[in-house]
Amino acid sequence: MSILVFIQQENGQINRLSIEAIAGAQQLGKVLGKPVNVCVFNESSANELTKFNLQKVILVNNSKLSNYNPLNFAASMEQVISKESPDLIIVGHTYEARDWVPRLSARLDLPFVSDCTGFKSDERLIVIRSIFQGKISSNVTLEGDKGFISFQSGSFRADAIESGDCPISIIDVDISQVSDSIKPGEKFQESKGEVDLSRANIIVSVGRGIGKEENMPIVKDLAKSLNAEIAASRPVVDYGWLPHERQVGSSGQTVTPKMYLALGMSGAVQHQVGMKGSDCIVAINKDPNAPIFEIADYGIVEDLFEIVPKLSESLNTR
Ligand SMILES: Cc1cc2nc3c(=O)[nH]c(=O)nc-3n(C[C@H](O)[C@H](O)[C@H](O)COP(=O)(O)OP(=O)(O)OC[C@H]3O[C@@H](n4cnc5c(N)ncnc54)[C@H](O)[C@@H]3O)c2cc1C
Repeated sequence: MSILVFIQQENGQINRLSIEAIAGAQQLGKVLGKPVNVCVFNESSANELTKFNLQKVILVNNSKLSNYNPLNFAASMEQVISKESPDLIIVGHTYEARDWVPRLSARLDLPFVSDCTGFKSDERLIVIRSIFQGKISSNVTLEGDKGFISFQSGSFRADAIESGDCPISIIDVDISQVSDSIKPGEKFQESKGEVDLSRANIIVSVGRGIGKEENMPIVKDLAKSLNAEIAASRPVVDYGWLPHERQVGSSGQTVTPKMYLALGMSGAVQHQVGMKGSDCIVAINKDPNAPIFEIADYGIVEDLFEIVPKLSESLNTR
């Protein structure tokens, strides 16, 4: 009886969502009293994972798994699951996971609760997922308390992961009989274009409160002073003041910077789902009742046109 976390990696580089998934699984493991194992298809990633508080790292060594193929991944994980018999299989909610996990969930007749934002434990495990574009949080239980769970980006903090020391166990899989009917093409980039906001340490994000495009330079100046990436809520993108690749939220990017500065934005739930995992949220809004203040660590109730230029000036003189 255990929890198994699948680790997505590329050329040995572990996906951030997998690290967050381990942090979530460790918390879940404590509540449920179950050990946590991880499974990875790359040796150097396996070595890196031994430094975390886990029961063991399962390394599946097969050259066919060095490139993503949903059929090979599903078949390999099917064999790992059959050997390990975990109750819960946890993955980060990445594009790859939403490709191969449903196949395996159907094949094994196990439920898959996708894009979850957290969990609570009453008499049995309840996983939480947003529905209706984040307007409602639903509580979901798994039939037989077994199945697959994927965690949404930012649901658990990567830096909450517990360190430790654990062994590697190697499992051989036979995927020679897997059909080659799928030939993956060029890899899909989760963030198209040159902007990958998910890697930014500081983000200055602007909302409709900026008023008009002519006012955008004050935001760009502040971003420059902070050496930050610039981002926006959807209206700013819809008006064409910034490109879509800079939109944060349910229909934009999900970000988890060290600091997220929200300027003139209300904090609609569709925006919050994309940035609530930020370490520190600073909001400037002239409306003290704006929902953004409910999740902000620091809030300034003021006209942004008063504050932002002064902030840039003060940063530039340092
Ligand atoms: C299916 C769907 C998907 C969506 N996806 C996204 C998404 O990915 N990302 C996203 O952001 N939204 C998304 N939305 C839109 C979302 O519902 C909100 O409409 C949007 O986030 C609001 O943007 P905003 O906060 O900039 O604007 P508003 O809600 O209009 O807020 C503007 C804020 O600025 C403040 N303000 C005004 N002037 C000033 C000033 N001078 N100084 C300081 N504060 C000032 C106001 O008090 C107000 O709180 C989506 C909606 C739907 C239906």
